[in-house]
Amino acid sequence: MISPEQYPAFANDLLTWFDANKRALPWREDYDPYRVWVSEIMLQQTQMERGVAYFHRWMEALPSITAVAEAHEDTLLKLWEGLGYYSRVRNLHKAAKIIAAEHKGVFPEEHAAIRALPGIGEYTAGAIASIAFNQDVICVDANVERVFSRIFDIDSPVKQKHNMAFIRKTVTDVLPSGHAREFNQAVMELGALVCSKKPRCERCPLQQYCEAFHLGIPHERPVPTAKKEIKHIDVATGFLMHQGKIYIQKRPDFGVWAGFWELPGGSVEKGEAPEETVVREFMEETEFPVTIEDKILVVKHGYTTYRVTMHCYFLTFTDQHSAEPVLHAATEYKWVSMDELDEVTLPAGHRKLLDHLQNDMRLKPLLDNS
Ligand code: SF4
Repeated sequence: MISPEQYPAFANDLLTWFDANKRALPWREDYDPYRVWVSEIMLQQTQMERGVAYFHRWMEALPSITAVAEAHEDTLLKLWEGLGYYSRVRNLHKAAKIIAAEHKGVFPEEHAAIRALPGIGEYTAGAIASIAFNQDVICVDANVERVFSRIFDIDSPVKQKHNMAFIRKTVTDVLPSGHAREFNQAVMELGALVCSKKPRCERCPLQQYCEAFHLGIPHERPVPTAKKEIKHIDVATGFLMHQGKIYIQKRPDFGVWAGFWELPGGSVEKGEAPEETVVREFMEETEFPVTIEDKILVVKHGYTTYRVTMHCYFLTFTDQHSAEPVLHAATEYKWVSMDELDEVTLPAGHRKLLDHLQNDMRLKPLLDNS
């Protein structure tokens, strides 16, 4: 087991490796706090390559904190579309407004002020304080947990309180003062590139310090927490077509997918067929009486703790009916063409449905006749 006397050599070997092997990432060009902040928020739950593409697009549209503060929420949601976990972008918006109002548009340097911003938890505050401002603060993410659980051979679930406390204390002890920017990134980079789920120990600069490697059990660390059960949900939705347009509505400003445009629909209730659900949901949400013309397809979409099976239909009005809904589950509505649907921000499942529909030959005549 690595002893505290070896910590400086350990840190030094890691920093040398990082210097030679770090990826060229856009926010590493100048460590501008705004860019570091956006990258940290964007990369939560997002793969690096994908995150970098979104990052470039975001920075081109919104080059400063003030630009974010002044942007309309729809613009931000559109730039974020496909990344998921939309509370992240809403919190970015709120935080940018606070920075504009209370910090003259300059990202605050004090750890407490950073931590006080919406959407910034312990990890992100540490990441910004250390990476943007090179303060001696740790940041522990899943990569850091994996690396340290292997180096120190932690043999119980890594998320257990005492293990997390041990990791935080040890990272603090190892961190070389004045080098937090490089050190924190180095541990995370090692976790991403070398000490990944399938560790490449033969390329690792920390082999000589690593207990799991000496025991021949890196694959058995970290010990995972018992998995949560995945829930399955059936929902039904549909394209209501009228005079060549499709009906969409905007969700309320709270709850899941807040502020997104969507097709009406909802969960299939016990004993109900999806065909009955879609008709019932349209009536409950809009008071539109609708008839099913055809089934489009079934879209499956997975989230962290649940899987959705979405039954989708082409719909028309049951009889001559006003195109004006009575809104019960939305704040706005509009009738749009297929092209206009591309411009609005939709939940991932609905976007998936649209992608399938691009090539569906049944759509055009239905729109022409509706
Ligand atoms: S030796 Fe292997 S398990 Fe240990 S830190 Fe390096 S990559 Fe990870």
